[in-house]
Amino acid sequence: NEPLSVVDPEIAKVLEQELGRQRDYLEMIASENFVPLAVLEAQGSVLTNKYAEGYPGRRYYGGCEYVDVAENLAIERAKSLFGAKFANVQPHAGAQANAAVLHAIAKPGDRILGLELAHGGHLTHGMRLNFSGRLYEAHAYGVDPETMRIDMDVVREKALEVRPQVLIAGWSAYPRQLDFEAFRSIADEVGATLWVDMAHFAGLVAAGLHPSPVPYADVVSSTVHKTIGGPRSGFILSNDADIAKKLNSAVFPGQQGGPLMHVIAAKAVAFKLAAEPEFKDRQERTLRGAKLLAERLTASDSRDAGIDVLTGGTDVHLVLADLRESAIDGKQAEDLLHQVGITVNRNSVPFDPRPPMVTSGVRIGTPALATRGFDDAEFTEVADVIASVLMPGADIDSARARVKALADAFPLYQAL
Ligand code: PLP
Repeated sequence: NEPLSVVDPEIAKVLEQELGRQRDYLEMIASENFVPLAVLEAQGSVLTNKYAEGYPGRRYYGGCEYVDVAENLAIERAKSLFGAKFANVQPHAGAQANAAVLHAIAKPGDRILGLELAHGGHLTHGMRLNFSGRLYEAHAYGVDPETMRIDMDVVREKALEVRPQVLIAGWSAYPRQLDFEAFRSIADEVGATLWVDMAHFAGLVAAGLHPSPVPYADVVSSTVHKTIGGPRSGFILSNDADIAKKLNSAVFPGQQGGPLMHVIAAKAVAFKLAAEPEFKDRQERTLRGAKLLAERLTASDSRDAGIDVLTGGTDVHLVLADLRESAIDGKQAEDLLHQVGITVNRNSVPFDPRPPMVTSGVRIGTPALATRGFDDAEFTEVADVIASVLMPGADIDSARARVKALADAFPLYQAL
């Protein structure tokens, strides 16, 4: 029972270096966040030792009396946070939640219809190499080439043509809200089950700053680690008792064995915190930060350098910089921002003329910095640094110094 630094100094060093990286860099990967210490504590706990196949009160293992309490708390808090009648909090991750959803509501070979991966969709919504593209007959709708937005008339046309068993609404890279009511009416018209994957925007929904898909969808899946800022994991919601039963059996024994009880306890903590006023304040700062960034990247000097943002702005926690007309591509932008201490990911834009490893876009998100404490002044500053770095002849040294000043002013995990 020696400490990690003695048992495995190499891994201890990785942990130390990664903590240093998280402190020194400004994290703007849209799918990332910083969990509170209480979540780290629950997740790094003795609950990792426990086998608990089954569900609270109906386990296949003895000694589940305490982990049952944790799972019931996670379930009740998820239901209350999102106003759903049913929650399954066992999926190990977002992809596992999605595999269980399709397992529950479709048969292999059924037609599924989701947003094109290259237009901001997710791998689990029908990508060729993913289980979703291999087990199901996957079809996709794209965004409008002019507005870069999802056009519900196009979704309807595609749905009428494909007649999918499952209609999917949700995205990994799209800067606007979805029209859940319109998705519902299309699903009804073609006889499809409507599945909304709110992995990215769940925190905004929980805070009441984004329309909720729960009243419209047959099933809603999500991750806990993006805007919510909890442990890396997934969960599923529904208001339909029949589907709920199928979902439970699809998660276990359909897709998974023993649930990760330490992670489920950490989810319970995250859902508790998400009902607090501080959570709403953080989501509000997240949204304002993304808007400030979009405004700065569409100012005249940026536009003169061929920089734009997809759809002209944002309603959510991320901005998609459009570099199709810029001298630098997505890969160069990602590298330059890394050099000055800002972490983002390059991202294909719809109809991207550059290859996927290069791309003509960067996806920039504000959730992690909002968690770190950033408000309008800091988001304005970081937006200005980003705009300056993407411009020809950028002063990299001065940008690096500005980033360091921001990181130093908002220390991360001081107690660690
Ligand atoms: N669904 C959407 C919309 C996502 O963006 C992601 C993650 O990128 C996932 C599902 C998968 O989550 P995970 O990486 O936890 O498997």
